[in-house]
Amino acid sequence: MKAISVLGSTGSIGTQTLQIAEEFPEQFKVVALTAGKNIALVIEQIKRHQPEVVALSNTSLLPELEQRLKALPKEQQPNKFPKLVGGPDGLNVAASWESADLVVTGIVGCAGLLPTLAAIRSGKDLALANKETLIAAAPVVLPELKKSGSRLLPADSEHSAIFQCLQGTPWAENARLSTGIPTPGLRRIQLTASGGAFRDWPAKDLAKATVADATSHPNWSMGRKITVDSATLMNKGLEVIEAHYLFGIDYNEIEIVIHPQSIIHSMIELADSSVLAQLGWPDMKLPILYCLSWPNRLETPWRRLSLTEVGELSFRSPDNEKYPCMELAYAAGGIGGTMPAVLNAANEEAVAQFLNEKISFLDIPKAIEAAQRNENL
Ligand code: NDP
Repeated sequence: MKAISVLGSTGSIGTQTLQIAEEFPEQFKVVALTAGKNIALVIEQIKRHQPEVVALSNTSLLPELEQRLKALPKEQQPNKFPKLVGGPDGLNVAASWESADLVVTGIVGCAGLLPTLAAIRSGKDLALANKETLIAAAPVVLPELKKSGSRLLPADSEHSAIFQCLQGTPWAENARLSTGIPTPGLRRIQLTASGGAFRDWPAKDLAKATVADATSHPNWSMGRKITVDSATLMNKGLEVIEAHYLFGIDYNEIEIVIHPQSIIHSMIELADSSVLAQLGWPDMKLPILYCLSWPNRLETPWRRLSLTEVGELSFRSPDNEKYPCMELAYAAGGIGGTMPAVLNAANEEAVAQFLNEKISFLDIPKAIEAAQRNENL
């Protein structure tokens, strides 16, 4: 039985993690939850999973949570009332909760950084979904990982694919650490990308792209921020930086390949030119489950991949003119230091402004580029 903490339990990653815990009650027990504002869903999660501690990022919502829990009919009340904590300290308490073995980091954006660091400093293994943690602060996070001995298991589907492929190489032991140490024999990474919401739109139409357009992904069901990141292809740029830090590979050996079917989740090329790939339906539950069960594999009743049903796997190069965010990410990664943090912060702010209809879709890369040049838009 593995005890898990779920940071961002009310989001897309968090709810899918809890579905897995429900599917495998013999394997996983949920001991800690954290959320932002979605109290109604947290209450349902408390009823189902009986965590030992629950944190809300917004402290002012704690009294309401407590009141609503106490007002539940007796038969719906948790067997043991969870400890309720709030604010940044509360998130850290939940992230470093003593009985947890592994922490799933499903908070969106840079808000996930400090709780992730708290989990690392308390020696927990991590299922890392919150990619912004590494983009913004790898030079801080990687040494902390080394110091604490925590293992970083990538939950992002592309990095999970790479991680899974590496398990089948003589360097698996090295790859297990995932702490930026170069993996000998790993020559190149090919990161696949669905192409996002606008992959079939002519570039000239992007000026008219609305929030509704940008938040409907053709293949994956995800939170709003990452869905917009997929539409700009900044998500792929962030993943390039994430792959650089996770697997210790040079930027010029990380290639982005547009693969509209999202069946191959990424590939590795080895020293002898052999290429290994991991395939599956586009469903985040599989990479999350692999983090939870690693190094084992659990038997699932999930839909099995049928290549004849898929019919065709196609690939093309990304269009850097239509999607400038990828090059901005490569440039920031190449500069290194705090520049990826600048890129990440500018992107988070620009996406938030876009979602609030304050700037247009095409303003997102412009705002990021201006921040990188230390200028105003
Ligand atoms: P969602 O927007 O669906 O969920 C975000 C979660 O974070 C919610 O639980 C939310 O709480 C909580 N949250 C929001 N703001 C704060 C804050 N300031 N402090 C603490 N908690 C907060 O995001 P996703 O699940 O889509 O993504 C989570 C992370 O995983 C992102 O970093 C993303 O890039 C990464 N990822 C996601 C994938 C996916 O399929 N969704 C795939 C690969 C990576 P509440 O809703 O209660 O306000």
